[in-house]
Amino acid sequence: MKKVKKTKKAKKMKKAKKVLKKKKRVVKPKKIKKVAKVKKTKKVAKPKKVVKKAIKPAPAPVQKVEFNQENAILCICTKCPVQAESTCAVAKVKEMEAMMQKGIPEGMMPPPTDIPGLYCASGVAACKDLDFSKMCICGGCPVWDKCKLGEGKPAGYFCKDGKAI
Ligand code: SF4
Ligand code: SF4
Repeated sequence: MKKVKKTKKAKKMKKAKKVLKKKKRVVKPKKIKKVAKVKKTKKVAKPKKVVKKAIKPAPAPVQKVEFNQENAILCICTKCPVQAESTCAVAKVKEMEAMMQKGIPEGMMPPPTDIPGLYCASGVAACKDLDFSKMCICGGCPVWDKCKLGEGKPAGYFCKDGKAI
């Protein structure tokens, strides 16, 4: 009987030891996988911005005649056959003559549309009833010589073709 008791005790002891062993087992930490270093990608050089060279605009043609009192007095457009039968131009001539009698302050100029002349400076005439079949007399004008309009464009008929350049 004593032997049986001993073996029972021994078995119990064995069990207890096993439990203790299990408890003592230290859980090993899982291996941390080394994260492969991400290779730095080479910097791709950005293409340089192509700077478009600005195309220089063509210089504006130089106006040859100044729109001023001095040139307006020299102008002979009021005697030109191209305007002679234009009711619009004749009316403007009368208005201008009246204005000049009163006296225009120095340096002041009426708007180009009110002046029936000096078209080499102001450009195409405001009056639309001119007769271009008649001869332009610009060639006999002191402004023509003074500003050398024969070397530029257009060749007269500024009331039709625009200012002198
Ligand atoms: S050149 Fe002709 S448009 Fe010019 S001022 Fe003389 S007459 Fe007038
Ligand atoms: S620009 Fe020439 S055509 Fe015209 S009104 Fe004067 S003189 Fe006459």
